[in-house]
Amino acid sequence: MNPLAYKRVEDLWFYDGSLILRAGEKIFRVYKAQLAARSTVFETMLELGTPDSQTDEMIDGVPVAVLHDEADDVEVFLRAIFDSSFFMPSPAAVRLADVMAILRLAHKYDVDYLHRRALEHLAFEYYYASVDAFGKSFRETESKETVERSTHFLHAGSHDRIPVFELLKLLTAAEEVGAIWILPIIYYDLTMQCKLQDILSALEQAGNERLTRTCLGGRSQLLLENLRLNRFLVEETIQSDCLQPTACDPFRRFLCDAVFEALLGQQLAPLDGLGNSIWDDVDPAKQSHDPPSIFASIFSFTFCVPCFNASRAMHTAAREDCWNNLPRYFGLPSWPELQAMKDAALGSDD
Ligand SMILES: [Zn+2]
Repeated sequence: MNPLAYKRVEDLWFYDGSLILRAGEKIFRVYKAQLAARSTVFETMLELGTPDSQTDEMIDGVPVAVLHDEADDVEVFLRAIFDSSFFMPSPAAVRLADVMAILRLAHKYDVDYLHRRALEHLAFEYYYASVDAFGKSFRETESKETVERSTHFLHAGSHDRIPVFELLKLLTAAEEVGAIWILPIIYYDLTMQCKLQDILSALEQAGNERLTRTCLGGRSQLLLENLRLNRFLVEETIQSDCLQPTACDPFRRFLCDAVFEALLGQQLAPLDGLGNSIWDDVDPAKQSHDPPSIFASIFSFTFCVPCFNASRAMHTAAREDCWNNLPRYFGLPSWPELQAMKDAALGSDD
């Protein structure tokens, strides 16, 4: 490569740096000792000059080592090492692309604290100890303390959902570094929150048959769960001790219509959507909503207490089942096994 074509990365070009790294066309002038102190792999590589990185090339009298990684990834990775205000620990918001780059390269070059930090960012968004914790991540969007799911990662100017191709990349990166515990939620987002057409094109492009089978198999299981979850709307949840037989049954049918409308419009996924707020909205003990719930504004009554309890119990149990089955649907170990893997990598929360 013609040295004239190299691009200096200005904020990673320290005039007294003792080593120049080149990845693709980008060059970085950094401190050899600092790099070696952070990474045993760099330490060995720079001491011994591994055949891969060795060149006789010099720029301004400084030796050049070549890295065979994506130039943009190397830039982000080096910035995380040399700029302490960049890539702050979770829950600071970061760019998902940066997390992926740092995850990969910190793993490859054995920079433990950065690898761990990247895993913590991912766990913040993609690991939940229970279905309730997962549900809350959607719900408390108004609260200052809770960060809405999928807004933890910054996107170019928007808080849109993470696009399917980026989720696929994340899936591959997580598999590569063995962060298996975040896979169930990534698979869930990928298969339940993206359009089938988008999923299929992304999978086709990825050209990975195993991944395609896993995604499509898991997706069809989750769609069945979606029906199973709403069984309380068509089964006998109107109780024999119902306090208002003329009201509970029509309300159940009304809900049933609304739910099936949403299912047909693919606006309902088994673990989010309906499951998170419906029981507060129709709770007979909380009928003085301010502002009134969407149901109360359409209907002047909801379930009576016995029917409410029976319906909620059936729905909650089905949702719990769906949660427990989620890893298995994508060929992954159970939640307790995943929790143990996470604890081994990141330490336990308690
Ligand atoms: Zn009733």
